[in-house]
Amino acid sequence: MATQKMLTFVSTPREMPAKRSAAERSEDFHEIYREFATQKAAEQASRCSQCGVPYCQSHCPLHNNIPDWLRLTAEGRLEEAYRVSQATNTFPEICGRICPQDRLCEGNCVIEQSGHGTVTIGAVEKYITDTAWDKGWVLPTTPAQERTESIGIIGAGPGGLAAADMLRKKGFQVTVYDRYDRAGGLMTYGIPGFKLEKDIVLRRNKLLEDSGVEFVLNCNVGEDVSFDAIRGKHDAVLIATGVYKTRDLEMDNADAGGVVRAIDYLTASNKVDFGDEVPDYEDGELNANGKRVVVIGGGDTAMDCVRTAIRQGAQSVKCLYRRDRANMPGSQREVQNAEEEGVEFVWLSAPGAFAGHVTGDMAVAQETDVAGLPQIASVRIQKMRLGAPDVSGRQSPELIEGADYDEPADLVIKALGFEPEELPRLWGVDGLEVTRWGTIKANFQTHQTSIPGVFAVGDIVRGASLVVWAIRDGREAADSIESFLTGETRIAAE
Ligand SMILES: Cc1cc2nc3c(=O)[nH]c(=O)nc-3n(C[C@H](O)[C@H](O)[C@H](O)COP(=O)(O)OP(=O)(O)OC[C@H]3O[C@@H](n4cnc5c(N)ncnc54)[C@H](O)[C@@H]3O)c2cc1C
Ligand code: SF4
Repeated sequence: MATQKMLTFVSTPREMPAKRSAAERSEDFHEIYREFATQKAAEQASRCSQCGVPYCQSHCPLHNNIPDWLRLTAEGRLEEAYRVSQATNTFPEICGRICPQDRLCEGNCVIEQSGHGTVTIGAVEKYITDTAWDKGWVLPTTPAQERTESIGIIGAGPGGLAAADMLRKKGFQVTVYDRYDRAGGLMTYGIPGFKLEKDIVLRRNKLLEDSGVEFVLNCNVGEDVSFDAIRGKHDAVLIATGVYKTRDLEMDNADAGGVVRAIDYLTASNKVDFGDEVPDYEDGELNANGKRVVVIGGGDTAMDCVRTAIRQGAQSVKCLYRRDRANMPGSQREVQNAEEEGVEFVWLSAPGAFAGHVTGDMAVAQETDVAGLPQIASVRIQKMRLGAPDVSGRQSPELIEGADYDEPADLVIKALGFEPEELPRLWGVDGLEVTRWGTIKANFQTHQTSIPGVFAVGDIVRGASLVVWAIRDGREAADSIESFLTGETRIAAE
């Protein structure tokens, strides 16, 4: 293959891999972007200006050596590009797919700042590692020396798995406990297949198993086994349990039938995607097919819900958000994808109340679900305007009196964010300190909690965050656990 020169951004425009048409992709749960062809990946990588101070690298939470793997890709040296890329990232092909690059590496690319359009860093990262899998370059870990010390990791999400990977590389014995039947955490059961196909996660789980990581699945710590029992069994413990408590709404008929939590809805959909039997999907409770769906929230979870509902064959899908498009927390790229697929965004709108089915004077209670609650029939929508900025600098939404209206709905999905469960109480652990938000208190560098030998990473420490940050925490915690167990200091000063 002809070697590409670098710095071609002046003559080569930015190009993403082709996106499947909205009509085609709305029919299935496969990813929406096609793979780069080899020549196209090299061409796009060659746009990098190899600038002296790579802001992309400093804004990547893993400090990936992006300019080097872009140059190697442009030169057709893909195996070397893969080696550089995987040296700092446990799941490069996953980050390439789902990192919000516009806020991280790509948003800080120097040629983006100069108006030429960022290098498509995420798409190239995905291409390099997908190629490595195809070519058989991704192999299980064989540690140079086995060690006897064992580490128990609670939670098989990206934080726990990144730590497991690094600890096995160091030769430690690693057991990962998870309450679900498959590893991967939210990569498996939260994020839908159209952003991250499930085979991509499963092959990583298998690689870890082949590397000697022991998985104990269907094991809910605190119920099936106590936290103390896990501590007693291992020389160090890592808590990586994520955040799953859903923020709720306080209003009339908040618990009506047909009002569901985003995490339940997305988990059910992902299980169906795996071919599992899901009674709550079969009986229609967590299935949008044929329904008028209203999703409440403006974050990435809400975006995943609206697009899932489209794929399930909803009659209509509306997304309510109390601020406007410019002030929503979700990615603009995902909003655009959702709009292309037929989602209607109702900006500056908040739910005021839920009502059951009423025709004329007919009582709400006539349409009840099995639990005797009214079945959702409509959402009272309150219109908002943006007022003065609050302490965070964001404009606060204010109610416009008298502008309410009722929006018919058969399924309402609450996607209002997540909070930590009360782990010390649930697990009966004395001395495990938490912050006032309920997240576990852990040292930012060592990730050690208030209990010596117990470490914590990912969302349970940061609050709802990103896969890439959980990976970074997990990799750092592995170094820290090694130091704790061996007395040697390996933690790089930041
Ligand atoms: C719908 C949705 C979409 C998202 N999309 C993106 C995205 O596009 N890009 C991105 O970067 N981030 C995204 N995120 C955020 C990202 O998924 C999380 O930040 C990340 O997964 C956190 O990793 P973690 O390892 O801390 O926890 P998790 O991934 O939540 O994993 C925690 C694991 O711990 C297990 N567990 C919990 N309690 C127990 C217990 N008591 N006993 C045993 N096991 C337990 C859980 O079953 C789970 O498997 C999304 C989140 C959601 C909800
Ligand atoms: S890990 Fe995420 S932020 Fe870092 S280079 Fe890859 S896509 Fe960008």
